[in-house]
Amino acid sequence: MAILKRLLTDNIISNTTNNILSFLTATQKKKGVNVILLLLLSAFLDVLGLTSIIPIVYIAQDMSVIEGNYYLNTLYQFVGIQDKLSFLLFLSFLLVVIFLLKNTISLYIQYFQSKYAFDIALSISQRQYQYYYNQGYLFSKEIDTGTIIYTICSAPIQFANLYIMPLLFFFIEVVVVLMILIGLFIYSPSLVFFLGLVLIPSFLIIYMWTRNKVKRLGDEKDKILPKSLGSAIEGVKGLVDIKLFNKEQDFLDKYSRYQKRINDIEVLNTNVYGKIYQKMNEVILAMGIFALFLFAVIFREYQSDLLLMLSIMATAAIRVMPSVNRIVNALMVIKQFSFLNERLGHLKLTKVSSFEKIKKMTIKESIQGKDISYKYNEEGEWVLRNIYFHIKKGETIGFIGKSGSGKSTLLYIILRFLKEAAGGIYVDGKQLTKEANMAFQKNIGYVRQDVFIRDASLESNITMNIQGEQKEIERLNKVISQAALGDLDIALDHEIKENGANLSGGQKQRIGIARALYKNAEILIFDEPTSALDEKTEQRILDTIRKLKSLGKTIIIVTHKKSTLKYCDKVYQLSDGSIKEEPV
Ligand code: ADP
Ligand code: MG
Repeated sequence: MAILKRLLTDNIISNTTNNILSFLTATQKKKGVNVILLLLLSAFLDVLGLTSIIPIVYIAQDMSVIEGNYYLNTLYQFVGIQDKLSFLLFLSFLLVVIFLLKNTISLYIQYFQSKYAFDIALSISQRQYQYYYNQGYLFSKEIDTGTIIYTICSAPIQFANLYIMPLLFFFIEVVVVLMILIGLFIYSPSLVFFLGLVLIPSFLIIYMWTRNKVKRLGDEKDKILPKSLGSAIEGVKGLVDIKLFNKEQDFLDKYSRYQKRINDIEVLNTNVYGKIYQKMNEVILAMGIFALFLFAVIFREYQSDLLLMLSIMATAAIRVMPSVNRIVNALMVIKQFSFLNERLGHLKLTKVSSFEKIKKMTIKESIQGKDISYKYNEEGEWVLRNIYFHIKKGETIGFIGKSGSGKSTLLYIILRFLKEAAGGIYVDGKQLTKEANMAFQKNIGYVRQDVFIRDASLESNITMNIQGEQKEIERLNKVISQAALGDLDIALDHEIKENGANLSGGQKQRIGIARALYKNAEILIFDEPTSALDEKTEQRILDTIRKLKSLGKTIIIVTHKKSTLKYCDKVYQLSDGSIKEEPV
């Protein structure tokens, strides 16, 4: 009784159903109703398949059944075959047709249900992707690659395959088992009693014994999977340093330790705990037979029915067992992957919504910084203190400072990726609000120090078009010559490798410049624009900056190198988070 109570308070099915429901959008819930109907149809077809062979076996044993049974007789008369053996042939042909039909429909239902589950997976995956964008810049710096890949690509698929699907299978099989038991009950209530006596305790014992082990191992796997992915990525990306240190084996071992533990868990959960019930089928059946004889020994008056009971019970068990196996298996899988509910829990009730297309904010007069202070952590040091600057439209401004003086931090505040703790950025005298940030960003062309290079053609790297949008070829050619990319003899359709693996630092820099220029922004920000360049190219880039200045662009240059500030109208010196204007 205590065990039964514990099972009832386990609530695994209602919890899982509620958990899954909390991830669904209104449309997905509506679609779910169709899925449930198909699920019932599927269960019904399964039972139909199980029972449709029985009449044929009956008739084959004793042809006279045909006349004795009203339905068979009606069909016999209706078909009009005179000879009973040919009628049997007709029936068996019917069986082929029924099975063909049933299995085709089942296959379709299976397709529909999986598609439903995987559509949910995609929407969860998209929401996770969007979630990372919405967390902002600092979050993106802190999150590790293993976790990103795991939560965007892998966990949502598991959610479909190993959380939603098993629940659907569970319901189908429960309906199947119930239908069979009801049928059997009409035929012989005591038989159902015996089956229950054998199946329920064995099910309870095995399930109670394994469920927590399976869950614990599942939770552990959830922790290790991102680490395993991360250490594979780390090992491959860090090839040069790892090899120079001759630490190849250490890194391989580190990865192997994680992966081995994952595999061990997989073996235990899927092939040991998940299979115990199935492997015990015969034992359970033998125990049933034992119980039956025990019954006969105690209540001698039932002895005459014994053989019949025995054979019926064996057949019934053989029919019911596979369904019970699948039920147990579904429960185990759900238990194992219940961590997904927490892992993806922050996405509950969020929706996939398209990112807005923002309108560019134009600048008429000036950009000002007033009294800006910043620190990365509550407890940490002030990285910027009372920063001010005044940039008139069309001016070229330099920020110079030693490494660690706060240049990048200030840059990210100007770019609106970091939010100042005090003070603010003012455009034409008006403070930039949170809502206006994206419109402001739209008017900025930013040339980073470590240029972001996509695994794509040169053209796509400059235009940032990835959906086949119309490119402006004239503008493209112009920026290529302005960024001195023309000299490199790289064709527009030349495929560039991830992170610009097949390019030099200077080439990457120039792609970054071409990209900022193609965007046609009024404000251009250069972060150490010449640090990776030789003197000749540096001169060309500075010439470009001078030309851009004459085109009326507003330019901000951040550097530690005085020579880069040649064409600046105004220079601010940053040191230890404080600013002061320098004579040019
Ligand atoms: P610069 O670009 O001039 O070299 P930074 O703006 O990158 O200087 O850094 C200024 C200070 O802020 C440094 O002391 C640095 O350690 C600290 N800092 C930079 N980024 C972070 C961060 N994400 N979290 C905490 N401190 C940071
Ligand atoms: Mg920096």
